[in-house]
Amino acid sequence: MEKPSKGTGLYFLIFAIVMLGLLYFGNSYFTQGESISNQEFVSILDSDDIHSITVSQNKEVPTGVVVVTLKNGQYKKINVSDVNETEKLLKEKFPSYKVEDVKRDSVFLQYLLPVIVMGVILFLIFSIMGNQGGGANAKMMNFGKSLAKLSTEDNKIRFDDVAGLKEEKEDLMEIVDFLKNPAKYIEVGARIPKGVILVGPPGTGKTLIAKAVAGEANVPFFSASGSEFVEMFVGVGASRVRDLFEEAKKNAPCIVFIDEIDAVGRKRGSGMGGGHDEREQTLNQLLIEMDGFGVNEGIIVLAATNRVDILDPAILRPGRFDRKVMVGTPDVEGRRQILKVHSKNKPLADDVDLDEVARTTAGFTGADLENLMNESAISAAKENRKFINANDVKESFLKVGVGTEKKSKIVSDKEKRITAYHEAGHAILFHVLEDMDPVYTVSIIPTGMGAAGYTMPLPESDEMFNTKGKMKHEIMVSLGGRIAESIVFDDITTGASSDIKKATSTAKKMITRYGMSDEVGVICYDDDEEVFIGRDFGHTRSYSENVAAKIDSEIKAIIDECYKEAEKIIIEHRDVLDRVAELLIEKEKIGREEFEACFGNISQNESM
Ligand code: ADP
Ligand code: MG
Ligand code: ZN
Repeated sequence: MEKPSKGTGLYFLIFAIVMLGLLYFGNSYFTQGESISNQEFVSILDSDDIHSITVSQNKEVPTGVVVVTLKNGQYKKINVSDVNETEKLLKEKFPSYKVEDVKRDSVFLQYLLPVIVMGVILFLIFSIMGNQGGGANAKMMNFGKSLAKLSTEDNKIRFDDVAGLKEEKEDLMEIVDFLKNPAKYIEVGARIPKGVILVGPPGTGKTLIAKAVAGEANVPFFSASGSEFVEMFVGVGASRVRDLFEEAKKNAPCIVFIDEIDAVGRKRGSGMGGGHDEREQTLNQLLIEMDGFGVNEGIIVLAATNRVDILDPAILRPGRFDRKVMVGTPDVEGRRQILKVHSKNKPLADDVDLDEVARTTAGFTGADLENLMNESAISAAKENRKFINANDVKESFLKVGVGTEKKSKIVSDKEKRITAYHEAGHAILFHVLEDMDPVYTVSIIPTGMGAAGYTMPLPESDEMFNTKGKMKHEIMVSLGGRIAESIVFDDITTGASSDIKKATSTAKKMITRYGMSDEVGVICYDDDEEVFIGRDFGHTRSYSENVAAKIDSEIKAIIDECYKEAEKIIIEHRDVLDRVAELLIEKEKIGREEFEACFGNISQNESM
């Protein structure tokens, strides 16, 4: 497949500018200075302001240009129809004039160049308009061609090459199976998803697993990156998308992989300083293409992003990317397996303990681990050793882990302990409080987005209303992390700031929006739906200082009450807290069963 260079359009533009420049300077010979009339010329000749005079003439024609340089530095110029006449006059009035022979413009400069320049300009204009309208013109533009890379023969990646990511592979297995045996699904009328979006921090293996899907199913793999679609010319992105899908349809069944989909899929109209037309067009085209091919046509679009929150909701609608697969940073076990994969062809000395390496690399992604093993191999090779020893790994660990931006990724044992107790605190309250959903996972793996860990509930009920009791329970859960920290350690950390913010905002809503405080009354003091950070600046409150003070004291009262109740529960479950925290320190991520087992024979959901 031909692969046009990325900046083709740019080269055209530069070419046009250079040509225009040539044209301009080519003629400017004659155009310097202010044009004057014949009378003015004569009167200047009679004055003694003249510094010098140059007569420019082309020998083949009688016409010429006389340029007069005045003593004050100004230029005056006059076009004359007969240079001989002028020379006669000058010999009389200003005999020290100079004659300059100007070569006639070459045919190229005079006739061909303007034609070429016009051609280029017209070509550009047409191509831009053609693409905008989505017309057939787009096809002749090779810079509208898709940059998608096609790989079939060289794609030998299988699920076995993707270590860990067990659940992710299970989710994608269905797609592999469909690509292999479409008839089976079509017969029973099943609708296979058209699009699956892989969400996770960079380096966690999204691209790798997408390739593995194609490899397992043995179908072509087309890949393109969202950022490639956002080019400088409006419409190029859209035309590339069109092209990519055209190619895919010819090769179905196949996988189309769009990396960095957030580059095109950002919420529309949310760009800085107005919308980004180009991006929106590309996104629209992508949605059109996805709606365009039928269900079970054999094209499955996989996309990757690390920011699902900024995506346009239209992308996630049914029939488009309606499946989401979270690709997380690996836990200890995952890291151990990834290390195994990446040390397959690397002989290790006896003193290298991959289990230990796995334990000490919390927060490392698959890419980091691959890098770690590679650096270790390089360090061994430098010393002409045929195997990697523990020292190589240690040194590379410092290199990879302490590399500028990855600094935050190294989690000390102390931090790990604190995070474990913090999350255990949240989790216990989730479990004990009746109104809250059961815990699905608890993790102390850094998310790569600023959080040290997370506790995720399994939403069981889809309730329409929030009750006062439930909102209080939510506040208690939010405070749980901080409470556990303060019970177990003498000190408290800054790690709970977002929890505190959440608790405060829930309490505030209870009072100012839902009228749940007797003190303040059933009055809505806050009718804005969205709460933007910093919106309060210059936002005039519609209530008095007096009411504001009351609201603040009520917020504090609710939070204090919740804190006390939550603290009581955690103290009562101190043994569970220790067990959960220990388990988290060991495994980093635990599921519902493991978590609930920590409660032992203490009956669950016993009341507060
Ligand atoms: P992403 O697309 O999520 O940014 P990649 O798939 O490009 O990450 O991963 C980069 C590299 O890291 C891969 O080529 C591979 O060598 C390594 N890697 C990442 N995750 C894994 C994994 N689960 N198993 C094996 N190798 C992995
Ligand atoms: Mg990638
Ligand atoms: Zn927390």
